[in-house]
Amino acid sequence: MLVEELAHRLAQHGRRVTLFEGADQLGGLASPWTIGDCVWDRHYHVTLLSDRFLRALLTELGLEKEMEWVETRTGFYTDGRLISMSNTMEFLRFPPLRLIDKFRLGLTILYASRVKQWRRLERVLVEDWLTRWSGRHTFDRIWLPLLRSKLGESYRQTSAAFIWATIARLYEARRSGLKKEMFGYVPGGYARILKRYAEVLEEEGVDVRLRQATRRVEPGADGQVLVESAEGTVEKFDQVVITAPAPVAAQICPRLSPDEKARLEGVRYQGILCASFLLREPLSQFYVTNITEPWVPFTGVIEMSTLVNRRHFGGHALVYLPKYVAPDDPAFDLSDAEIEEQFLSALCRMYPSFRREHVVAFRLSRVRYVFALTTLNYSDRLPPLTTSLPGIHIVNSAHVLNGTLNVNATLRLAESAASGLISEARQALLPAD
Ligand SMILES: Cc1cc2nc3c(=O)[nH]c(=O)nc-3n(C[C@H](O)[C@H](O)[C@H](O)COP(=O)(O)OP(=O)(O)OC[C@H]3O[C@@H](n4cnc5c(N)ncnc54)[C@H](O)[C@@H]3O)c2cc1C
Repeated sequence: MLVEELAHRLAQHGRRVTLFEGADQLGGLASPWTIGDCVWDRHYHVTLLSDRFLRALLTELGLEKEMEWVETRTGFYTDGRLISMSNTMEFLRFPPLRLIDKFRLGLTILYASRVKQWRRLERVLVEDWLTRWSGRHTFDRIWLPLLRSKLGESYRQTSAAFIWATIARLYEARRSGLKKEMFGYVPGGYARILKRYAEVLEEEGVDVRLRQATRRVEPGADGQVLVESAEGTVEKFDQVVITAPAPVAAQICPRLSPDEKARLEGVRYQGILCASFLLREPLSQFYVTNITEPWVPFTGVIEMSTLVNRRHFGGHALVYLPKYVAPDDPAFDLSDAEIEEQFLSALCRMYPSFRREHVVAFRLSRVRYVFALTTLNYSDRLPPLTTSLPGIHIVNSAHVLNGTLNVNATLRLAESAASGLISEARQALLPAD
């Protein structure tokens, strides 16, 4: 959504914008696909009441008033059992922890939600910080499986800013949601949002080029920037903003300085294998089920149909099973059928009422670059938005510093990058002193 928002804001400021998208549709990670007879998001997406930038965009697109807001529940799969953890009473009863552990865990979450000087947390490893606040027992029983589920073994290099950002986002959602976990969606999902967004971009005169991957971006002889497509056509522009993931940006921009390249290539990413299952019967009443059992081959269960009315899915249940992995994880080489079999076997073991015959449709999404890992002192090593090459800028989700990866943070980043570009262009037009 970064490139769309950047184009939208620049066009609103009177700039002539051309948008190159390698895929056959807009939206990137938020784009839709067809599963069974339904069209829905390729990856699970919810909106929080506190998602100010996203809700403002949806208002502009005329869709905010249609949003459905639903109170959801959270579960834990731990010690071979499915446990509800949706309110304070359930938290106090949560079996794997002693009362003192729960007290310290509650304190950790409360403290993290109050931290304002988050940059200090970039200097501490998440393991050290959580162990100090919650204790070793709670770290091993709860935090470690949760960290591993999102970060794999890279949790060892991740700073405490990661857990701070995650807690801050969820806490914010509850703060503005009458202390309840309220999530929202637009009926029709991101397919509807992106269709309307594409119409608005067209009305604003943005030249959207789908299926046009960019192979190379470099300064031309006359002060303009050359953009070469994968097919070899070259076009000239005054300014170019690259929004692809950091390693891709380094590749398509070969004339960057060695330091800029090293910074881009030094950003470590986490990827995903995300399975979607359309089922005849729901699995549970939980939107998210966190998993603390190491044998489960996926890292969480997201039951979209506990939030979105099942009529959007032809009366079926839509369940996502994400597996977050490093970009070079061998799991990327497994076939769809192998992954489906692994995941189905685990579902049979976890949910006694689940039957393989319940599966109506299955699809698997593979993405190598999903989010940048917030390693120690991450923000000090980030590449700047404006490069040493005249007219070439790089901005991508790795520049989301004080938040988790979500559409709201992406839009905020795009808006601030657009204002930066506009004021930079104005400065360039000012007469020299
Ligand atoms: C499993 C999952 C769950 C999520 N859940 C939520 C959620 O609940 N709520 C929420 O708000 N957000 C959620 N998100 C995050 C949200 O999808 C992302 O924040 C957002 O889509 C990031 O947008 P982006 O534009 O920065 O990157 P991307 O979506 O990765 O877009 C990058 C685009 O660049 C294109 N591209 C790459 N290389 C080239 C090239 N050489 N030439 C041309 N085009 C190129 C790609 O095709 C792609 O379209 C989720 C993401 C995932 C993966």
